Amino acid sequence: MEIKDQHGRTFKTLRISLTNLCNFGCVYCVNSDDKGEVNEVNSSPLLHLDYNVLAEYVILLHKVLNFESVRLTGGEPMLYQNLIPFIHILSSNGIKSIKMTTNGFSLKQKAEALAAAGVKDINVSLDAVDPDVFRAVAKRNFLKQVLDGIEAAQHNGISVKLNAVIMRGLNENQILPLLDYAISKNIAIRYLELMRMGHFYSKNFNENFFPMKEIITAISTKYTLHPYNYRNPSATAQIFQLENGFEFGIIANESEPFCSDCDRLRLDSSGNIYGCLSEEKSEYIGGIVHDEVKLSEKLMEALKHKQPLKFKGSPLKMISIGG
Ligand code: SAM
Ligand code: SF4
Repeated sequence: MEIKDQHGRTFKTLRISLTNLCNFGCVYCVNSDDKGEVNEVNSSPLLHLDYNVLAEYVILLHKVLNFESVRLTGGEPMLYQNLIPFIHILSSNGIKSIKMTTNGFSLKQKAEALAAAGVKDINVSLDAVDPDVFRAVAKRNFLKQVLDGIEAAQHNGISVKLNAVIMRGLNENQILPLLDYAISKNIAIRYLELMRMGHFYSKNFNENFFPMKEIITAISTKYTLHPYNYRNPSATAQIFQLENGFEFGIIANESEPFCSDCDRLRLDSSGNIYGCLSEEKSEYIGGIVHDEVKLSEKLMEALKHKQPLKFKGSPLKMISIGG
């Protein structure tokens, strides 16, 4: 069965949410109470499949879809107990491109093992280079650990990209310092517009949202931007170039939606697949994963959940589904 929708979309990349646990409490991802303490970070974990079983699901999905890449996310993927053996199983079963999105806290300790297991690309979420602003966003004082982690990853030959979610009144003053840091370390950086998900689905979104055009305005106060910008097919980021040749991206879910050529499939650690972040409904693949026909039918169902053009928001929590 050909897995394709009427817009010609299929699944070429897989994102696996390995856990919904996290050691950070980023305000755009989890709810915090009035005192700024994190409520949900240590909430009860999803039912986690044994890592051998989860790896088997990924390999069988890969057999049907022949993924170009697989990205490990979470929660915080570094907290997944069998992370390195899990990666080894994937890479020894023909999955060539294994990437990760992490908060970077444990990267210094794990960079060498990750590189040895075959991870070549890591996105590190870094929303501030000022320690106070970092703490205001992540609710943790871990800036130094994250910066050390980035250095360790680079030292081990891993290509690093930075992801910075910009929120009004919180870290918009970090747009330029983050860019200066990225330029000084020669690291790619992408700014993210806040997504209308989880606790931002039904309230407080508009007042916290900081749009792409204001990110560009902030950058233009210091740098001259090349007027040409582009987005690669199926990519999420709109790419801009500075006069000095340095490129940065903006993932602008609201301002510059990219659903029309989205090729992402998501799998959580309980064995549920999601075709779209806008759709809460998932398809459970446990029990049918060895049956290629039934698995293809579930994939077609998941594909129907993709939006034609624009992300419409979702009560799904980022900490569970992984972005
Ligand atoms: N813990 C890892 C990390 O922070 O990189 C991986 C999981 S996290 C949910 C994946 C990505 O989602 C991060 O880059 C984070 O900044 C982003 N994210 C979380 N909530 C978001 C929101 N409401 N809007 C936009 N991006 C969000
Ligand atoms: Fe944790 Fe990542 Fe969510 Fe921050 S964005 S709370 S690091 S899962």
